Amino acid sequence: MSTNFKARDMAEHQIADLDAQLLRRKLRTSASPCDTKAQVDQRELKAFCSNDYLGLANHPELVAALAEGAKRYGVGSGASHLISGHSVAHDLLEKKLAACESKHIPNARALFVSTGYLANINAITGLSRLANPGEVSIYSAKLNHASLIDGVRLASSQTKAKVTLFDHQNLDFLEEALQQDKHSLKLIVVDGVFSMDGDIAPVKNLLHLAEQYDALLLVDDAHGFGVLGERGHGILEQSGVHSERIIYIGTLGKAAGVSGAFICAAAPFIEWLIQKGRPYIYSTATPPAIAHTLLTSLELIEGKEGIARRKQLNQLIQIWRDEMTFQNWEKTPSSTPIQPVILGSNASALAAAKLLDEAGYWIPAIRPPTVPVGSSRLRITFSANHSVDDVRELIKTLQMIEQEVKSN
Ligand SMILES: *Cc1c(COP(=O)(O)O)cnc(C)c1O
Repeated sequence: MSTNFKARDMAEHQIADLDAQLLRRKLRTSASPCDTKAQVDQRELKAFCSNDYLGLANHPELVAALAEGAKRYGVGSGASHLISGHSVAHDLLEKKLAACESKHIPNARALFVSTGYLANINAITGLSRLANPGEVSIYSAKLNHASLIDGVRLASSQTKAKVTLFDHQNLDFLEEALQQDKHSLKLIVVDGVFSMDGDIAPVKNLLHLAEQYDALLLVDDAHGFGVLGERGHGILEQSGVHSERIIYIGTLGKAAGVSGAFICAAAPFIEWLIQKGRPYIYSTATPPAIAHTLLTSLELIEGKEGIARRKQLNQLIQIWRDEMTFQNWEKTPSSTPIQPVILGSNASALAAAKLLDEAGYWIPAIRPPTVPVGSSRLRITFSANHSVDDVRELIKTLQMIEQEVKSN
């Protein structure tokens, strides 16, 4: 029997390496529901870090809907959708989600998936298989979310898709590349709201290019659905676009306050993904009670309460944009509830996060590979449950902390 256990040594060595580079991440355990105050390690912290933008994650109507859904449907779905796990709750939800985007995607149909990560892998790999291997070309924005990047990588290894990265703020390069592209299937892939910067993708211009050069446009609106648009239907509503070339991904664990995601597209694309989308086919359906809860969440998002919550959120964002100034740290050009502060080095981002923690705030430092090297940051996010005073207090605290970190 060998006493030499190489794999464990490797793991320990790799972790020590992360520690040395200040790249080791720490889990913190919260004992309270997701809200603007969090109970962490026996302390109450003011949280500005969740993606619960509308403050719905602990909404009494959703808590009641989940309990009611469990009573009606039980807790497990028991199988994948194509075997026996597809319930009326899933069906109702998919119809409602399709209706949300139907003004923007003709002939829209929606597919409910267990997470946004899987929705992206499913859509990108599945759509890539519409053409023969070697006939697919994917254009992916450089700052796209990890799940889009992984979907593109998997598509590229499965179908030999050609992958081209582009800068979403300068579409000239993308246009030139599309002009010369002879592949039979072209797919442009982009975050709707960039998750670490908060800026919004130029969907109108991207769609224009997609139409001009016969491409599909996949928009991952994880941070836009529920937040953008008059009724909270997301980036397509806000930008007023309309096309059968749009593949829309919305997630339901952020502003919608629950869990899950959906792909919305013209019916033939959705039918194809049901036939060939491996993460959809080979994974147990989300509990129907979750789908049932999401029906109530969509009603809140579209209705008076959603409108009031978006108004409050936008007021907080405006106050932050107007009143927050830094001497060295940088803000990003964001009009969404994602308002990062860029510090640069891992060490200064960690120092600032530690001082914030001591001041009673929960705002983790975000480091590579989540963001590019040298752009470590505090990712501050607002929720409709924050008050104007909460934001003004945060501003004061951050201004003091900037001085402290600088003098260290
Ligand atoms: C969070 C996020 C996802 C993943 O969604 P989950 O439902 O959390 O798996 C996908 N894309 C973007 C841009 C995200 O921010």
